[in-house]
Amino acid sequence: VLRRDYVASALYEPDVADLDVDALLQGYLRQLRARGGRVVTNAAVDALTHARRAWSVQSVVGTFEAPLLVNAAGAWADELARRAGGQIVGLTPMRRTAILVPMPTDLAGAHLPMVVDCEEQFYLKTEAGKLLLSPADETPVAPHDVAADEWDVAVCIDRVTPAITFEVRAVAHRWAGLRTFAPDRLPVIGFDKTAPNFFWLAGQGGVGLQTAPALAQAAFDLIEGGVLSAGLADFGVDAATFDVGRYAQHENATPWGHDHD
Ligand SMILES: Cc1cc2nc3c(=O)[nH]c(=O)nc-3n(C[C@H](O)[C@H](O)[C@H](O)COP(=O)(O)OP(=O)(O)OC[C@H]3O[C@@H](n4cnc5c(N)ncnc54)[C@H](O)[C@@H]3O)c2cc1C
Repeated sequence: VLRRDYVASALYEPDVADLDVDALLQGYLRQLRARGGRVVTNAAVDALTHARRAWSVQSVVGTFEAPLLVNAAGAWADELARRAGGQIVGLTPMRRTAILVPMPTDLAGAHLPMVVDCEEQFYLKTEAGKLLLSPADETPVAPHDVAADEWDVAVCIDRVTPAITFEVRAVAHRWAGLRTFAPDRLPVIGFDKTAPNFFWLAGQGGVGLQTAPALAQAAFDLIEGGVLSAGLADFGVDAATFDVGRYAQHENATPWGHDHD
C-alpha cells in the first residue's frame, strides 16, 4: 500500500503482534464473574463519602460500600478523586481518532504489517478485512463521551494519502476515544496521599490495553502487601516511578487543558 516514491527507507519488525481487544476484555469479564464479581453498568457515581473505615459510593442505581476504593475512572479519574477529597494529578484526556476504509480490491485478503510513519503523524493497519487509519492525533479535551471530529477525519485522510497507492473514497466507520495522560505521561498507581484507602489505577495513556495484565498485577501487589512481586521487580519496575505521591504537591493543578510538552 505504500508508494515507492514516498518511502525513503523503512524498519520492518516481523515479530509484532496484535491484541484481540474484544477477547481480552471478555476474558477479564469471565475471570471476574468466575470469582464471584459483578459488573454494574449505567451506574454513574455521584458522591463518595468515607466513614467508619468504609467508602460509600452513591450511584444512580444505588449505594455501594467497600473498605477500599480503586479509582479506575479513566479520563474522569481526577474528577472522581476530587469528589473523594483526594489528590488531583492534573490528568489530560487526549482525543485520538480512527477511521475504517474499504481495502482496495487488489489487496483483499493481503497480510499487511502495521505501518507507522517515523514522525508518528499517522498509522494504518488491517482491521476486520478493512484498513484502519489514524492521524495519531492527541487533542487535549475535557473528560467527555467523545466522538470523531470531521476535521480530524479530514486530517487523517490528508496525511495518509501522499503515502499510499490508492485513493480513500469512502469511510466505512469513524470513531474517537480518549487516551489519558499524567503530566509525565507515566501511569498513576498507588494509594492516594490524602483520601484514605483510595487507590489510583489511571493515566495509562495509549498503552492501557497492552499493559493491563502487568498494571493490574502491580495494583494487586501494592494493595495486598505494598511491594511489587518478583515478576515485575525483575523487569526493573519500580513502584515509586508510578506512585501518585509524585503529584502530592499538585492538589491545585488544573485537571485538564493545561500546556504540555
Ligand atoms: C483510538 C485509541 C487507540 C488506542 N490504542 C491502544 C493500543 O494500541 N494499545 C493499548 O494498550 N492501548 C490503546 N489505547 C488506550 C486504552 O484504550 C486505554 O489506555 C484504556 O482503555 C484505559 O483503560 P481504563 O479502564 O483505565 O479507562 P477507560 O477505558 O476510559 O474506563 C474508565 C471507565 O470509568 C467510567 N467512569 C468514569 N467516571 C465515572 C463515574 N463518575 N461513575 C461511573 N463510571 C465512571 C467510564 O464510563 C469508563 O467506562 C487506545 C485508546 C484510543 C482512544
